[in-house]
Amino acid sequence: MHRFTTTGKFVGETLKDMNTRTVELIASPNEPHFVGDGFRVHNFIPSKFRLDMQRMNPFIMLDYNSTHYFPPSDTPKGVGVHPHRGFETVTIAYKGRVAHHDSSGGGGIISEGDVQWMTAASGVLHKEYHEEEWSKTGGDFQMVQLWVNLPKRYKMSPPKYQAIKSETINRYKLENNAGTIEVIAGEYKNTKGVASTFTPIHMFNAKLNKDRKADFQFPANYNTVLLVLEGNIVINETDKTPTDHLALMANDGKAFEIKATEDAIVLVLSGEPIDEPIAAHGPFVMNTREELQEAFMDFNEGKFGYLED
Ligand code: MN
Repeated sequence: MHRFTTTGKFVGETLKDMNTRTVELIASPNEPHFVGDGFRVHNFIPSKFRLDMQRMNPFIMLDYNSTHYFPPSDTPKGVGVHPHRGFETVTIAYKGRVAHHDSSGGGGIISEGDVQWMTAASGVLHKEYHEEEWSKTGGDFQMVQLWVNLPKRYKMSPPKYQAIKSETINRYKLENNAGTIEVIAGEYKNTKGVASTFTPIHMFNAKLNKDRKADFQFPANYNTVLLVLEGNIVINETDKTPTDHLALMANDGKAFEIKATEDAIVLVLSGEPIDEPIAAHGPFVMNTREELQEAFMDFNEGKFGYLED
């Protein structure tokens, strides 16, 4: 509803509406491609539909492996040794299991419901494969891999891991049997996430029951997206977002609500933009071209360490 102030100046919205964050666009999943032979992903960020690194910052890459059946394989499928520098990789397992190893001697298994938060920062080599036993059985596989940008002052800090097990994730129980908000990072109504982040980030799995709602509120300048992993939702009672679609919220207000039109799982991401230039090439995301060249040189000179294929 539009209205005018007493001076006749057009203000566009009612006061209540001014607090509402609207939907900027709803992106359908693009054609999937394989990363290695183990991840069949739709690349949502950076992609067309204005979902580029600068717009989505601090979320600079989002690959979504929508539910895909992998037949049994004695040789685990996945992606071999590769480097990262300048950001964090966050892997969220919804179906299936992934094993990972890195050049600092770290490694582990990411099982259903787990989150692996790897701060690559100054640089790691790692590899990611379907976990061996899971691979032998095969099954449905569904996973999100997200890259979270680091500000300049942390890009060259030491690498670290946060292996977040499903049972350690704090959960907020919604009223009226509406469902549960799993708080991976940030905060939902005083329930805090266990993940530590370098810049303010909220990351939730919203698990909603059919015909039930949840409301969210983030500062208007935080870049915010919703990825629907299961079911269908309606945002602000107007914008239908089906399974495997991503909704980009506009930066025009704080609050929005989602309603599940069938049982739904929604990944909710909201983060403060990092106001710095981005220079990105392949697995390196820095601030300048010179820093990218340095990353390539360091990689070629073995400064990222060693990891066997
Ligand atoms: Mn990787």
